[in-house]
Amino acid sequence: MKVIKKVKDLREVLKVYKKEGRTIGLVPTMGFLHKGHASLIKRAVSDNDIVVVSDFVNPIQFGPNEDLDAYPRDIEADSKLCESLGADFIFNPDPSEMYHDKKAFVDIEGLSDNLCGARRPGHFRGVCTVCTKLFNIVGSDRAYFGQKDAQQLSIIKKMVGDLNIPVEIIACPIVREDDGLAMSSRNTYLTSKERKAALCLSKAIFAGEKMAKEGASVKEVLTKIEEIISAEKLAKIDYISAVDLETIKDVDDFSKATLVALAVYIGKTRLIDNFIYEV
Ligand code: AMP
Repeated sequence: MKVIKKVKDLREVLKVYKKEGRTIGLVPTMGFLHKGHASLIKRAVSDNDIVVVSDFVNPIQFGPNEDLDAYPRDIEADSKLCESLGADFIFNPDPSEMYHDKKAFVDIEGLSDNLCGARRPGHFRGVCTVCTKLFNIVGSDRAYFGQKDAQQLSIIKKMVGDLNIPVEIIACPIVREDDGLAMSSRNTYLTSKERKAALCLSKAIFAGEKMAKEGASVKEVLTKIEEIISAEKLAKIDYISAVDLETIKDVDDFSKATLVALAVYIGKTRLIDNFIYEV
């Protein structure tokens, strides 16, 4: 397992494997890896000959008042985990390596107008740009993304299709703590009181999913979710929505695959969670 910081060096080592016809899997991350990331890496290791984990806190996907500087980083622990999981390379560029005098960006229309895209202007432009760069740098056969960031996954799938980027996007399920909280690098911001309060997200998601499966309407499901979150004093709702999984437009029935998603502030920490209702 090797940590590579330069685009040129990564391209050079991968060229050899490509010539030999070996398959390459890419796992894009912002580092501070946890079991959620590990599940993507494990899947990539089992599907591909060579696995590259990108470990890069992407500055252009953070808004001016967001947590770019505070975002946790630990490349040593990440390297150890990647090594133990059988990944081959960590790509850990400096921001200047990725964005020296950058003038070109990748944007997506429509799908970023709702949910996190509406609340975090420019976020998905940053995500689409960095993912396009990573796909171009690595040239992987497959790339692995978590359902935890469901809007991101829909956007990346659409972007790859629309721009004819030759990479297969693999979706991986949400990994949770034993008590239900979806794993996130941002969970480290929570005080112990907030950590307990944060359970309202998964509690609401599980209750909503159960109701949807039992035939409740979108309105009933969203009302229940709101009730559960509102009962938690430390929680402040950013959004609770049901959208078409492909278009990310609001829906009022479950006639198509539906993403029920929420973002909630617990103190100053913004957490997200979701479930997908498949028809
Ligand atoms: P991040 O480092 O937060 O940008 O996440 C990198 C990748 O890991 C994204 O595709 C996320 O959706 C995925 N991921 C993060 N947390 C989880 C989780 N709890 N379960 C599954 N995938 C996750």
